[in-house]
Amino acid sequence: MKEVKEKLLAERETLITKLKGNDLSVDDSETPDPVDLAVRNYSKNVMLAVSENESRQLALIDEALLRIEDEEYGVCQNCEKEINPKRLAAIAWARYCLNCQQLLEQGLLEED
Ligand SMILES: [Zn+2]
Repeated sequence: MKEVKEKLLAERETLITKLKGNDLSVDDSETPDPVDLAVRNYSKNVMLAVSENESRQLALIDEALLRIEDEEYGVCQNCEKEINPKRLAAIAWARYCLNCQQLLEQGLLEED
């Protein structure tokens, strides 16, 4: 369990560093060229999308860390069965067992 926690904490650090690295404050004052502006806006949107993914993953990691504290780690948040250890080894912050994850991806499971 200690290893998992360390893995999660390390992953968390990486994400925070990445998020901080995404500087979204682009100075538009010197860009009268609309093409240039469009390109800038485009890359801004891409960066925002990336940040969104990373923020989401960060939230999942925080949740997983809380579950470790509560000694609920490795339990599916939907059916409360144990999540396959192989799955956890691959995705340490997994909330659901494979079965429930598939339901979720098919839109058959509502996330809280
Ligand atoms: Zn499940």
